[in-house]
Amino acid sequence: MEKPAIEGGKRLREEFLPYGTQWLDENEINEVVDSLKSSWITTGPKMTQFEEDFKKFKEAKYAIAVNSGTAALHISTSSIDINPGDEVITTPLTFVASANCVVYRGGTPVFADIKKDTYNIDPNEIKKKITSKTKAIIPVHFTGQPCDMDEILEIAEEHELYVIEDAAHAIDAEYKGRKIGTLGDLTIFSFHPVKNITTAEGGMVTTNDDDFYEKLLMFRTHGISKDAQKRFGKSGGYYYDMQYLGYRYNLSELHAALGICQLKKLKSFQKRRREIVEIYNKELQDFDEIIIPYKKDNVKHSWHLYIIQLEIEKLRVDRDYIFKALREENIGVNVHYIPVHYHSYYQNKFGLKKGILPNVEWLFPRILTIPLFPKMTNDDVYDVINALDKVITYYRK
Ligand SMILES: *Cc1c(COP(=O)(O)O)cnc(C)c1O
Repeated sequence: MEKPAIEGGKRLREEFLPYGTQWLDENEINEVVDSLKSSWITTGPKMTQFEEDFKKFKEAKYAIAVNSGTAALHISTSSIDINPGDEVITTPLTFVASANCVVYRGGTPVFADIKKDTYNIDPNEIKKKITSKTKAIIPVHFTGQPCDMDEILEIAEEHELYVIEDAAHAIDAEYKGRKIGTLGDLTIFSFHPVKNITTAEGGMVTTNDDDFYEKLLMFRTHGISKDAQKRFGKSGGYYYDMQYLGYRYNLSELHAALGICQLKKLKSFQKRRREIVEIYNKELQDFDEIIIPYKKDNVKHSWHLYIIQLEIEKLRVDRDYIFKALREENIGVNVHYIPVHYHSYYQNKFGLKKGILPNVEWLFPRILTIPLFPKMTNDDVYDVINALDKVITYYRK
């Protein structure tokens, strides 16, 4: 790619603005120090507290904390017993983790195309991909907007499929007044620093089902039936039984300490995200070359990402060029995501190729994620808008 440059221009902003980042303060620091001074530094009372707080917030029967969103997905596909020969339907427009969790178990991910308005998985495309081998659906609430859950749950019921919701973007989302977290069999969340709240690294699974709860606990810790807190505590005995080949995904107290503080701030974080979204919507809707995100009326959107669609036919350069020009302006734009079936691993292993999923392939060269995180000031927000104005004006046809 040629170096994009807008001649004669001075960069609008000196400091790089990322597309997303954490917001921590003395509360988190004190809570972590408190853990460091206590006798439990790995999984202990703070993790239990974090789980309690989370399940109350989600109005779920159970919440199981793990050390990443990917781990949450992996214990979920393990608990529904995905095995070689099983197919699981998911979206191509997601982080690879949503599909990798199927492959970890030896299963086959099958991609169903997205809808052109919400960019979420299309229930009609799911129907077309169902075979006798299909065992589950993993809808991803992309950018924080819930998928068409009524339709998806109906398909699942009709074909006796499990539903694992990937709500890594959707911690504060609701579908027709119901909180995301208990609609499907299992729901996963991520607390990576770019997500809406963070534990540095961490994840959570919520469920209302007793059997899944037991399995999730076991898969979190080597498939062992008694958790470490009980084994190493004063009242614990030595006996344990390994019933499944599980993993080692428990969350440490240091991470849980962050989660307890961050969850308390979620409401104010989300208020700020929504304020920024309103400014973007208002200022960007009049650009002829930009389509602002579409939001359905019957959902509460969690606004993890703000993705604009570029009308590339109206521009002299492609999206990658616009991306580079905005990066030159120190605006940390990004692209979410490279469709999963474009990755060489998926192409090689599952014989996938470009051309099979027209909607996501049409969309991919048009999407651009612009910065959105609660710590952004209004000046930051207007830096993004002004940089977009500068770059789009320069490259318009
Ligand atoms: C971030 C993310 C994950 C994985 O979460 P980690 O905590 O990074 O492992 C899974 N799915 C989606 C859609 C994500 O954005």
